[in-house]
Amino acid sequence: MKGMLATLLCLLFCLTSTASALAAQDYEWTADDYIWTMRSKRVNGVPIGDAIEDAFANVEWSVTTDGTDVYGVCEGGVPGDDFFLLVRFTSEFSFEFVACQRNGREQENPSQLTLEALQAYAQSHRCAACAGLGYTDACMNCAGSGFAFGKQCLACGGSGRYFCKACRGFGVMTNDYTRACPFCDGTGTSGTCPTCGGSLYVLQSGMLLLCPDCTGSGVTTCSVCSPGGIALGYLANS
Ligand SMILES: [Zn+2]
Ligand SMILES: [Zn+2]
Ligand SMILES: [Zn+2]
Ligand SMILES: [Zn+2]
Repeated sequence: MKGMLATLLCLLFCLTSTASALAAQDYEWTADDYIWTMRSKRVNGVPIGDAIEDAFANVEWSVTTDGTDVYGVCEGGVPGDDFFLLVRFTSEFSFEFVACQRNGREQENPSQLTLEALQAYAQSHRCAACAGLGYTDACMNCAGSGFAFGKQCLACGGSGRYFCKACRGFGVMTNDYTRACPFCDGTGTSGTCPTCGGSLYVLQSGMLLLCPDCTGSGVTTCSVCSPGGIALGYLANS
């Protein structure tokens, strides 16, 4: 009887918890979202959007579908110096180059034009504050070693240096594409922790212990923006 009740409770519990987890994750990535993915993708710190919009005039971004495939289109320029770029999305956050035309001519390597634009952008927008390094000074607390007093340096987090504030560590001056995560409405969580039911503690061998699955937060973190277990609530792409 007790066993059956436990099974029933578990079943009920598991059903409700998967339902709430799904409800928070069922956001559908829109055309605008795919365009954000394409523009915000950084290569060596430079977003593809910044590079292409700097290299060409009249740049336009759009999304098209073919069956279940989603394609991103970027086109623009001026007559005599125009381009057309096609990528295929392999997930919400990644894509592959499919084709590229330059002045109406098919390019052998579909990513060449983008790579050249990225390189040109990196050269012309190098951060002056850090000379393109992405960091300014070596950490004084650890003299740049990342270790102080036998453990990871608390002042710099173990990197041995301070991120350049002017370029946010990228070494180039770029737009910030950080945005609220739509999968969790910017909360960083996808509902109550199913293990402890939000009570923060679990009963183990007669002892109340801090829930190991949510480490005492009482919630499940959003698998899209906060897979590391720390609720972030924003998407930065990379
Ligand atoms: Zn340090
Ligand atoms: Zn900098
Ligand atoms: Zn928990
Ligand atoms: Zn999220």
